[in-house]
Amino acid sequence: MNHQFLRPCLKGLILSLILSVSIPGDAAEPGEVHVATFAADVTIPIGHRCMGILPTKAKEIIDPLETRGLIITGVGKPVAIVAVDWCEIRNGAYDEWRDTIAKAASTTRERVMVCSLHQHDAPVCDREAQLLLDSVGMKKELYDPEFHAACLKRISAAVKDALTEKKPVTHLGLGETRVSGIASSRRVVLDDGSIAWSRYSASGGNEFHANAPDGPIDPNLKTITFFNGNQPLVMLHSYAVHPMSFYGRGGVSSDFVGLARRRMQREHPRVFQIYVSGCSGDVTAGKYNDATPASRELLTQRLFEAMEASWQSTQRQDLKQVEFRNATYDLPFHEADEFEPAALKKVLHDESAKEGDRILAAMSLSSLQRKERGQPLELPCLDLRDAQIILFPGESFVGYQLMAQEMRPDSFVMCIGYGECWPGYIPTKQAFEENFNHGWRWVGRGSEAILRPAMRKVLNVSDRN
Ligand SMILES: [Zn+2]
Repeated sequence: MNHQFLRPCLKGLILSLILSVSIPGDAAEPGEVHVATFAADVTIPIGHRCMGILPTKAKEIIDPLETRGLIITGVGKPVAIVAVDWCEIRNGAYDEWRDTIAKAASTTRERVMVCSLHQHDAPVCDREAQLLLDSVGMKKELYDPEFHAACLKRISAAVKDALTEKKPVTHLGLGETRVSGIASSRRVVLDDGSIAWSRYSASGGNEFHANAPDGPIDPNLKTITFFNGNQPLVMLHSYAVHPMSFYGRGGVSSDFVGLARRRMQREHPRVFQIYVSGCSGDVTAGKYNDATPASRELLTQRLFEAMEASWQSTQRQDLKQVEFRNATYDLPFHEADEFEPAALKKVLHDESAKEGDRILAAMSLSSLQRKERGQPLELPCLDLRDAQIILFPGESFVGYQLMAQEMRPDSFVMCIGYGECWPGYIPTKQAFEENFNHGWRWVGRGSEAILRPAMRKVLNVSDRN
């Protein structure tokens, strides 16, 4: 999240932390591996809430929101990577997405790697949060469940159709390019040497924020291409940046990331294009963006050119092996008193409270219910031997992406952010120590210590070192 509508953050409760073992990997040899691709429209209707809590609801559709995915078969049960032009999918809604696609593709929930791209004039869906809002007369105030169900029906049909036309995968392409003029960290060093997290997604009009260095980012855009012989079938691009140029005015858009993807699709009509946002909780286009349509166009063109350069740099090699691994774990909940169930219920039921605060309270309670049920977070990883694709929860900071790459310096590690989104921001240990705080953070200190071993497990590090 990146907005001005949230209360500053608070203190609270820490629940117990459990790291469980990974599910054993299923390996496949080349010759058995196929890929299918699918797309479906998921544009919200006029009048739908954006970003969960924004006061201005959808007024016009500037460009459509899409779901674009690939399914790899021949790896034990199929594995899907599904990228959605939505802000966030959380809790029961996240399970509904994975279960729908798993059923359509004859696989299991954990093998469906669903991520949001995190555009902000786009919905946040959380099933139990909306049910809680229903109970206090706030129907459809977070999201419209009928619209949501219609999207899933379309996606299910698209997945089934796609699998009738799957194609063999014989080769893998790995490409990468350094990007300039898009990503910059929220973290800036002030003149007195202190750290501030004050650079937001449209701070380019502010002289200090425009001039401060990029800060800690991952400057590289990565592309993984699946080939049948010489024919590229699918390109999967990942870059770590919040995807907003401007938002909050009711203009629904896939924003510069979706627009760049469509430009790439027009350039390469025979190669299915998917873009995912990397781990970018603390990374936005803020240094380079002043929230004008001209900035949206400039960011679109720069990202499109980076995708093209990454594709041009692609090295094709034999597909040697495909394997899937997963880890489950729990993260501590926000430590503030305001995140205690009684306090949250009070806000939810308070008719004089701000609408956005009541919605946030419902989202918090939804996550607590999930934790009480003992439902863990996951860290799925598709391992292509020379490359790994790993899906992180929520707004994981870019530090996690950099850590994953450091854990496997011998390999091409592509990180995806915004999987299960209930945690909100997931700061690193350093970011907690530097007092990162925000109302869209649901996890507490200690998250890095839990995520690190899970990352090592799914990246298969322990066997090597
Ligand atoms: Zn965000």
